[in-house]
Amino acid sequence: MGHAPLEDSLWYATAAPAPATHPIDGQVQADVCVVGAGYTGLSTALHLAEKGVNVAVLEAQQAGFGGSGRNAGHCTPTFHYYSIPKVRQMLGETFGPRIIERQTNGTNIAFDIIRRYGIDCEGVQTGYVQPAHAPSMLKKLEAKCRTYQEVGKAARMLDRAETERLTGSPRYFGAWFHPEGGHLNPLGYSRGLARAAMSQGARIFTDSPVTAIKPEGSRWRVETPSGSVVADKVVCGTGAYTSDFWPGLRQTFTILTVACLATEPLSDNLRKSIAPENNTVVESRSDPAIYKFDKDGRLVTSVFVEGRRGGDPAHTKTMVEARLKWILPQLGDVTWQYYWYGDLDMQPRTIPRLYDLAPGVIASLGYSGRGVPTGTMMGTVLADWAMGVPAKDLALPLEPLKPVPFYMHVAPRALLPYYRFRDQRIARRDGVRPPPY
Ligand SMILES: Cc1cc2nc3c(=O)[nH]c(=O)nc-3n(C[C@H](O)[C@H](O)[C@H](O)COP(=O)(O)OP(=O)(O)OC[C@H]3O[C@@H](n4cnc5c(N)ncnc54)[C@H](O)[C@@H]3O)c2cc1C
Repeated sequence: MGHAPLEDSLWYATAAPAPATHPIDGQVQADVCVVGAGYTGLSTALHLAEKGVNVAVLEAQQAGFGGSGRNAGHCTPTFHYYSIPKVRQMLGETFGPRIIERQTNGTNIAFDIIRRYGIDCEGVQTGYVQPAHAPSMLKKLEAKCRTYQEVGKAARMLDRAETERLTGSPRYFGAWFHPEGGHLNPLGYSRGLARAAMSQGARIFTDSPVTAIKPEGSRWRVETPSGSVVADKVVCGTGAYTSDFWPGLRQTFTILTVACLATEPLSDNLRKSIAPENNTVVESRSDPAIYKFDKDGRLVTSVFVEGRRGGDPAHTKTMVEARLKWILPQLGDVTWQYYWYGDLDMQPRTIPRLYDLAPGVIASLGYSGRGVPTGTMMGTVLADWAMGVPAKDLALPLEPLKPVPFYMHVAPRALLPYYRFRDQRIARRDGVRPPPY
């Protein structure tokens, strides 16, 4: 669907202002040049600047222009697609435990930064609820909950009554709850990260698209149309919005577009009847209903784009409204105030990858969702690399660039109808009426 205007999003209308920045003009020297001012780039810049490293960030548009400024704002400290044991198996006994430790602490890293720098981004760490849409899903959620308890988290199961109280929905059969989950205004968080990094001495140049990275003696020249940074090391955190500045980087992922919708502010009573403790809710369906509130009481939700869903805003609004009204019968008619969309960088492993582009040049992308904690957390890993931590001691292995397999260009979209079919089959098997859409 291409790049939607960031200006369409709720967050653009409500986020605290960005710090003053300008395009690069001429040549700048730095220890580390960071390409991209999303969570990945900005968290890297912040963690390096805190250690006294001279960092320059080059951003094609503005801080938070990519996924980081336009996502739904859920900050969930879990792996999106794989269980913890599966991640351990996939990454082995060296890297598995390290990335599990970082990812499961991703929200703590983010909220620690928010608190330390007083970032004005509606950030609340009130907990994540994943309710079961069918009784048989409870077993799966229990197993998942247990694996997070095993890594020291105070996760717990909720009974049906407590689930109804926290989600506002009589449709669910119980849930698992992770107290470290939270939510925020994603553009406000991006801008706050930029402000925090600048307060520690990082320089951020916006409207400065990188066109090439070339060797310059033993260093690297990172070029833009209005100037360049010459640095010892280069970190690329350009996510789904990666342009063609390094051969093969864009080919490592496929795009999955996600649409977000926000209602007008709801009454206090209605809001309290839906999320009295201001949690974030992501139900157990593979094509889930997802919701949370913003600071003004707007209900914010998101769906994967597939055909008319997402492509046709009127149809999308009707279908999302019907689904939410089924889940939340008290909701009544909905007036949508904001509708926007953005891209995810999907690759088959879904766990982030560290690409070893050349000696001194690295990239991290392919998050496939969950980027609020993941991008923030990967900033710590990239900062380790830039500080000289040997490859064998990093939280993820360094890998060569590898084009995304062809099936990934169709798989995420093609799988959605299958997931919906499976969700409905599970519900019917359990004697539960599935929601419309
Ligand atoms: C609609 C939507 C909803 C989502 N919901 C959630 C959610 O609720 N929770 C969650 O955890 N995750 C969510 N995600 C995922 C999350 O937003 C992303 O994974 C995360 O923002 C990725 O961060 P990043 O810093 O790696 O990349 P980005 O935020 O995409 O930043 C990359 C930056 O690089 C810049 N760039 C690209 N090329 C160049 C260049 N040549 N020169 C200079 N700069 C360049 C871009 O302009 C951009 O600003 C969602 C994503 C979308 C799109």
